[in-house]
Amino acid sequence: MQTKILLDESEMPTQWYNVTADMPNRPPPPLGPDGKPVTPEMMGMIFPPDILQQEMSTERWIDIPDEVRQILSLWRPSPLYRAHRLEQALATPAKIYYKYEGVSPAGSHKPNSAVPQAYYNKKAGIKRLTTETGAGQWGSSIAFAGQMFGLEVEVYMVKVSYHQKPFRRSMMETWGAQVFASPSDRTASGRKILAQDPDSPGSLGIAISEAVELAMQDPHTNYSLGSVLNHVCLHQTIIGLEAKKQFAKAGDYPDVVIGCCGGGSNFAGTAFPFLADKAAGKALRLLAMEPSSCPTLTRGHFAYDYGDVAGLTPMMMQYTLGHDFTPPGIHAGGLRYHGDSSQLSQLVHDKIIEARSVNQLDTFRAGVTFAQAEGIIPAPESNHAIRGAIEEALRCKEEGKQETIFFTLSGHGHFDMTSYDRFFAGELEDYPYPQSAIEAALKHLPDPTKMG
Ligand SMILES: *Cc1c(COP(=O)(O)O)cnc(C)c1O
Repeated sequence: MQTKILLDESEMPTQWYNVTADMPNRPPPPLGPDGKPVTPEMMGMIFPPDILQQEMSTERWIDIPDEVRQILSLWRPSPLYRAHRLEQALATPAKIYYKYEGVSPAGSHKPNSAVPQAYYNKKAGIKRLTTETGAGQWGSSIAFAGQMFGLEVEVYMVKVSYHQKPFRRSMMETWGAQVFASPSDRTASGRKILAQDPDSPGSLGIAISEAVELAMQDPHTNYSLGSVLNHVCLHQTIIGLEAKKQFAKAGDYPDVVIGCCGGGSNFAGTAFPFLADKAAGKALRLLAMEPSSCPTLTRGHFAYDYGDVAGLTPMMMQYTLGHDFTPPGIHAGGLRYHGDSSQLSQLVHDKIIEARSVNQLDTFRAGVTFAQAEGIIPAPESNHAIRGAIEEALRCKEEGKQETIFFTLSGHGHFDMTSYDRFFAGELEDYPYPQSAIEAALKHLPDPTKMG
């Protein structure tokens, strides 16, 4: 009975897969403040040329530079596991597999994009990167990647997480980054929020405004984003590409592919490489799992919206809860984002990808079931994917089907144990997102047709 399906370092993919090439409907272009498509010059203020090219590319395959593969090989290829013990615990006829991204230095999938982003910025002569971080996963990934290529890194960390997750900050500082609680008084965007609400807990949208503002002001500073954008989803496809090779080794193939979804990058990275097979007629389901408290794909509006609170980013077509969304304090910080990747949103809109939301308490129950069966303690974000896999496995049991279920375990939960403590103490709650807030968001959406 095989448990671990491993690849040699030499079997690590040499190219990323660009889903744009295979989309029946490509997302409409990002729009600038005048309501017209943003020019490469505008984007060039905060991104290096290679990243911009990848953002707009329609090529199916894009080479992974050797310098990037060398750093990725510190932990890649990541293992694919057959979850025999979870299958037994659920008494399901289904076969469950998971790809474990917690083996990276930062403990999640995020370094898969942080490393190439740092590389391309270094190559373009950039000295410093600014970024935002929620739970600290992206911040620590870019701190690590910046250190690998000798770049300075400034991280704007959502204030509530800054205080809740002090060890994530220590990690970033160990890798040489500077970390500021956001909203901070270092930027106009931060000062404006603080003037309105000195006790603002912060949000990803606010932190993005701060990091983008600084990058726009300094030619030696660029901005880097840990999810949502096409190039981030592209870099993450190394997950699904490796998984396909591992399934070939195992002599199996998934019927359903599952990932948790915040901005969409680990889900995209997992699912997009399988999408080509689906387009070619393979019966295959792709399922994105999100929190009921931040139900972007399942209940959001499909519309143009900003990526940040201040409206400094271009408007992108996406599912959104409104760029001024303030999320409830759920414990899967990495999933508290108002919007989603344009590519993923379009594919959900076109019914090629399914989305489902789950309550916080059910995700922790799933995470504990998983940890007790398989050993690994998952990140609260990853628990959403596990919950999805368990729901599918129980459906298979009811229907008596031996389907193959595959999900990405996006990270470990070693820095999230206070959340588990609170779950065990009965202090966590479900936060169903109110319909009134969904409707209110509509009023704040920008209308690109009335700009310029
Ligand atoms: C950031 C994060 C996520 C969610 O981000 P995506 O861009 O949707 O992948 C999921 N899991 C973990 C462990 C994370 O750190």
